[in-house]
Amino acid sequence: MTRTDRAVAEDLDRTDPLAAYRDRFLTPEPGLVYLDGNSLGRLPVTTAQRLTEAVTEQWGRGLIRSWEHWIELSQSIGDEIAAGIVEADPGEVVVSDSTTVNLYKLAAAALDARPGRRVLLTDDDNFPTDSYVFQGLAAARGLELRVIETDLDEGLSIEAVRAALNSDVALASFSHVAYRSGAIADLATVTGLAHDVGALVLWDLSHSGGSIPVPLRSSGADLAVGCTYKYLCGGPGAPAFLYVRRDLQDELRQPIWGWFGQRDQFAMAGAYDAAPGLTRFLVGTPPVLSMIGVGEGVRVVADAGIDALRVKGQALTSYLIELADEWLTPLGFRLASPRDAERRGSHVTLHHPDAWRICRGLIERCDVVPDFRTPDRLRLGPAPLTASYADVWDGLDRLRRLVESGAHESYPTQRARVT
Ligand SMILES: *Cc1c(COP(=O)(O)O)cnc(C)c1O
Repeated sequence: MTRTDRAVAEDLDRTDPLAAYRDRFLTPEPGLVYLDGNSLGRLPVTTAQRLTEAVTEQWGRGLIRSWEHWIELSQSIGDEIAAGIVEADPGEVVVSDSTTVNLYKLAAAALDARPGRRVLLTDDDNFPTDSYVFQGLAAARGLELRVIETDLDEGLSIEAVRAALNSDVALASFSHVAYRSGAIADLATVTGLAHDVGALVLWDLSHSGGSIPVPLRSSGADLAVGCTYKYLCGGPGAPAFLYVRRDLQDELRQPIWGWFGQRDQFAMAGAYDAAPGLTRFLVGTPPVLSMIGVGEGVRVVADAGIDALRVKGQALTSYLIELADEWLTPLGFRLASPRDAERRGSHVTLHHPDAWRICRGLIERCDVVPDFRTPDRLRLGPAPLTASYADVWDGLDRLRRLVESGAHESYPTQRARVT
């Protein structure tokens, strides 16, 4: 048996301690190789059940009386994220709004807390929505948006961060795991460097929450936001989470003053008075049904355990790279993620000049779902909770056959609305 035999993948699956978790998700198409768990996590079986019950019982029968069960969901699910997903204490994480809106709230609060400093620091490989929010804040406040150059494949450079930081910087904000390459930023070192010049740091955990350990407490991190519909399997458009270190909570003031952030919400009083603690970072009525999906997703991920997910994530992506080296390099592919597993999150990106048409071909004729990322990259995300080693083998085997046959060349080169 050679390393590229499918039997190797089958052996790895037999001894995978997380294998049983696959049964906790709906898999209506058993032949589908789903390599996009980093964009939209699969549907947990219990979510489908809980949502049906929430619709018919809590909403249908309970009506307004059910708010008794719903009113604290932002905080209680936040506490579950703090206990099982990121390293934080109870009362330091809440679920609310979208990642984009939370970025805005926390970045604005941080800028207000550093009056007189006129620089917001980020990098050119940050996720577009992060960059747009910062552009908007800089434009509205007449601040300088200082943008570090980041290598698309290797991720954020500590030296570049060090060189860009000085006492003009109010806030620095980066992604913990780069959405394109999967490169991990050194959260502790960057946080320490920013603190040395008196700046605050805001981390985007969208691609790390639920896939790798997130050392917020031990790094002294200030602020973070994260997505729940990727590795946390909360469902499409599910509300995001935000983290504010305990001792900063009463010092910061976010800019959207809504009644869910008010001290005594149901007093219906005239003047806004920010609630103490993390509650002041809430805004308005949460999307309850989506919130229930977040709770279920968080529970199944936390139950598997981040350390076990990290071990499997490294093993799956290392196996993927091994097969890619063997089969795909001769076909013109190049690894566009860190080769060192310690520096890589749970997805792998491959560069190929024809990546867009290859991506279409995989989806439309091979029953493999990856995604495409500009400018010319194929992103493969075998989420450790739901993907098997055989999925990786089958996905790469179908990929090499597609490219060998040239069948992808029949697809248009024009990109679609959603990639
Ligand atoms: C997915 C993702 C987002 C998504 O933001 P939304 O407000 O949910 O659209 C933001 N930042 C990063 C880094 C992401 O990966």
